This record gives sequence, structure tokens and C-alpha cells, in this order.
Amino acid sequence: MPLYTNQKLKIYNTLSGEKENFNPIIEGAIGMYVCGPTVYSNVHLGNVRTFMSFDVIYRYLKHLDYKVRYVRNITDAGHLTDDGSVENDRFVKQSRLEKLEPMEVVQKYTVDFHKVLDHFNFLPPTIEPTATGHILEQIELTQKLINDGFAYVSQGSVYFDVLEYNKRGMNYGELNNRNVEELLSNTRDLDGQNEKKNPQDFALWKKASPAHIMRWNSPWGEGFPGWHLECTAMSTKYLGEKFDIHGGGMDLKFPHHECEIAQGKACNNTTPVNYWMHTNMLTMNGLRMSKSTGNYILPMELIEGGNQFFEKEFNANTVRFCFLQAHYRSVLDISNEAMIASEKGFIRLMEGIQLCNEITPSETSSVDITTWKQNCYDAMNDDFNTPILIANLFEGVRFVNVLNDKRETISAEDLAELKTTLETFTFEILGIKNEKASNNTTQKLEGVIEMLIEMRKTARDNKNWALSDEIRDKLLALNIQLKDGKDGTSYSF
Ligand code: AMP
Ligand code: ZN
Repeated sequence: MPLYTNQKLKIYNTLSGEKENFNPIIEGAIGMYVCGPTVYSNVHLGNVRTFMSFDVIYRYLKHLDYKVRYVRNITDAGHLTDDGSVENDRFVKQSRLEKLEPMEVVQKYTVDFHKVLDHFNFLPPTIEPTATGHILEQIELTQKLINDGFAYVSQGSVYFDVLEYNKRGMNYGELNNRNVEELLSNTRDLDGQNEKKNPQDFALWKKASPAHIMRWNSPWGEGFPGWHLECTAMSTKYLGEKFDIHGGGMDLKFPHHECEIAQGKACNNTTPVNYWMHTNMLTMNGLRMSKSTGNYILPMELIEGGNQFFEKEFNANTVRFCFLQAHYRSVLDISNEAMIASEKGFIRLMEGIQLCNEITPSETSSVDITTWKQNCYDAMNDDFNTPILIANLFEGVRFVNVLNDKRETISAEDLAELKTTLETFTFEILGIKNEKASNNTTQKLEGVIEMLIEMRKTARDNKNWALSDEIRDKLLALNIQLKDGKDGTSYSF
């Protein structure tokens, strides 16, 4: 039986403002979309926090035996800083600054993004589509919205008509609990306003000025897509008109996700998402981490050390552990003290897991492992409460210590359960990299190569050149190169 039948998950849904029982549209399968990075510069640690929250959510859903289609896009076009003018296209601006082609900017920072995620042991999404790879779909959606009267063309650009949408009985502002009047008062006087029927209308397609180099042909002339539309186009294409989970940072709730709901409803006559999930912000020394204010640190700066904010370097596992000690919906402040405390906690957890191997089982258990294990699940079932889970893992470490001191007893079966549960939640679900396991694997591989070198030497001593060459060639095929020197044979891989 799949695990999800026993472990009942609750998810906080931004749309209802409540924790709801989670029921996917199709039993056993989940469609999840997370807004990806805008790849015009390096991701900062704040971005990493948001993506890490969804990495753990994805890991836990998989652990519960759901089949998850996890789509996380790459925004590589059309995410304007403020308005529609070419000066505010992040990619065009950055390409000028770095004297690169815009797609070189995209490539450079996509590679950086993947490297960072790799470093932090992220699972890749199952689909990672790009906005530029889905221009046609965006044009089609725009055309449909025009045909259905939800959008209008104005001087080569296309805008979504918010008042028309509301007139037809829908409610722009439902995700943010705001009405059009409030939204209006928050709308700044931006470029392109004179083209719109109403200030709160948003761009689906923007006409490219002659200087705008990222441009595509469309029925309305050369231009580029609006940012909100790409997520609707890609989520609909890969997850359908209605899917289970949509996530992103809190700052995307308005206008981005509000616009996605409006586009989805207008196009497909159904609300596009059942559960909207939003992560809270990472702050540093009390201020929100952000590129524009300069209050940010790049992930590798924290890992490699030598930066102005932290007294020493911290490894990727410690950073992961620190992030997950806060619930994804709470603000997390990262500081030197917080990192030092997390490092200590992390080491304590690892030592506890290690010490499990030293414990000798008894006939019976005086500790209740079954209840403890369910407490770990309950924490995650309660809207992915990682800090409570970590507190429970430390309760597991406390068991390990009292068992090791022989103050309590444990049966062989319970001991195996204790160890597996600690490891599963730490490595598989929280995504901590099991350094011991990976070091072990390298050590084992080295041992095997040494053994083969020994066997090859014996073959050569026996003038069995065929076998000796075969060992060398087969290792080479695995990218393990043997080098014969006067001090014997060395290898590299
Ligand atoms: P962007 O590349 O700006 O679209 O951001 C990528 C993701 O990072 C979005 O989901 C943002 O909400 C999120 N994000 C940006 N700044 C922070 C922060 N300080 N803390 C947590 N998440 C953030
Ligand atoms: Zn998005």
C-alpha cells in the first residue's frame, strides 16, 4: 500500500488562508509547478531558500509514494523590472553591461543556478522548461484571450482587461484579498500606462522598440511576452488546465500569481491551481535579502568563506540544515550566530546517527520507537513542518545517547527502525548529503582499483599480456586511467 494512504497530509493554501487536507486531482499522482529563477544574474541565498523549501516538499511527496510531475521553469525572457521599456528588460540590461548576447547571459546564469543547486544536493525537477522555448504557446494563449474578449491590442502590445474579467463574475485580487480599487491605488504610473484601458491591466505581449534585441514575431508585430503569461503557458502545457500545487516566494503572490489565476480562469474557465503555496523570505541581519538593496550573499561566498558578513565558511549541509530549522512560511534571519548554532546542531545530529551503529540491541525495548516515528511523519504531514521534524530527530538522537549509556534498552527490530527513520528523514527527506556514505563509496572504489592493479601486476608477472591489457582497457572505458611508472602503477579518475 502506498504510504500516502496512511500519512494524511495537510497543506496551507494561500488561496483559502487555511491548512487544508491534501487531495490530489488524480489519486496517487501530483502536478506541481514552481516559478523558477530569472536567469540574468547569480542566484542569491534568498532564492536558494525558496527553491530548497520546494525541494523538501518534492522529496516528501515522493517519499509518500506519490508520482510527482515537478515543473520548475527558467525565466529567460520578458521579466521586466518595472515597466515595459527596454531599459528595464533585465536580460537586455545585463547583456549590455557584460557585453554579451542576451542568450549568453541566460546560459551563464542558468549554468550557475544548476551548479549552486547541485552543491546543495537538490533533486532536479522532472521538467525544466524555458520561457523562450514556449513563445508559440504564449502567442496562442494571448490570441485566445483576445478572441474571448479578455484582452485587447493597443499600439502593438496586448493587455489583459481586468475590469472585463471582473465584469464576467470573476475576482481579480482573490489570492491577495484585495479588490480592484486597492490594486489601483497601489499601481504606480508606469511606462505603457497610456496604452492601457485601465491602470491595473497587465501586459500579455509587449511591442519591441527598435533597441530591444530579445524579440519574436507575432500577429501583433515584433515583440516579447509578458512575464506572467509564461507560467500559465508552461504549466498548462505540462500539467493541464488545472493542477494540484503551485509554488513560489511570497513576493510573487502579487501581481504574478494573481495574474496567473486570471489568465488561467479566462482561458480555461476553471481555476488553474488547487493549492497555492508561498515561502517566506530569507533576511540577513534583519533585512530582506535582495539583489537590488545590496543586502545579499551568494551561496558560494558563504560556502567558501572570506566574505564580509560571516566570520568563517559553512558547508552546504550546514546551510541546508539551518534553512530547514525554520518553517517555510516563517521569515528566517541568517546571521553569523545562527549559522554557528546550526553547525553545532548539525554535527550533533550526524554524531547521533553515527552512534546508532554502536548500540547493542536487547531482548525488549524500553523506548517507544513507533510513536516517535509517527511524530516525525506528523510534523511533515502538518504543512511540511521541518523545524518540528528536526526537533523530533533530536529526540531520536536523545534515544541513541541513553541507549548507548545503557540507561534504556531496545530490541534489534526497533533499533533498525530507529536507524532507518533517522537516516530516511535526514538524508532522503531533508536532503542532507550523506558525506559518510559518499566518502565510503569513493573509498570502496579506490580499494577495488588497487585490487585490479594488483591482479594486473600478477598477470604481467605471468606474461599474461592479454589479461593485463584487458584490465587496463576496461578501466579506461570507465574513465579510470592507469599509468605505469618506475614506482609501480598509479591511476586517475
Ligand atoms: P527571481 O529570480 O527574482 O524570480 O526569484 C526566484 C525566487 O526566489 C522567487 O520565488 C522569489 O520569490 C524568491 N526569493 C527572492 N528573494 C528571496 C528572499 N530574500 N528569500 C526567499 N526567497 C526569495
Ligand atoms: Zn511564475
